[in-house]
Amino acid sequence: MPLIKCPDCGHSVSSEAPACPKCGCPVKSTDSGVNPNDRSIITPHRWNFLQKMAFFCWGIGALLILIPVILIFVATPANTWPHIIIIFIGVVALATGGTLHQAGTGREEK
Ligand SMILES: [Zn+2]
Repeated sequence: MPLIKCPDCGHSVSSEAPACPKCGCPVKSTDSGVNPNDRSIITPHRWNFLQKMAFFCWGIGALLILIPVILIFVATPANTWPHIIIIFIGVVALATGGTLHQAGTGREEK
């Protein structure tokens, strides 16, 4: 009973096991017809990563929007363009977070 590496987390898994005991990634490709090395399959492990990245983007986006807005109101700078550019980057970060969240949840429903 040889040991193989989990394609998702690298944990050593028995080739007889249907899935990785650590992350749940399917590892047995012989009779399921699923290639475990197929990177297009979103495993629970990777889904979790996408969700974390989405929340990270939302956090960064919220900060990038809030901080310039507060600065504009508190410091009333003569030139607000740098602040507006930072707010725009924050909006892009929020949108990226939304896309990542969608990518994670969308595949999970399959
Ligand atoms: Zn694993």
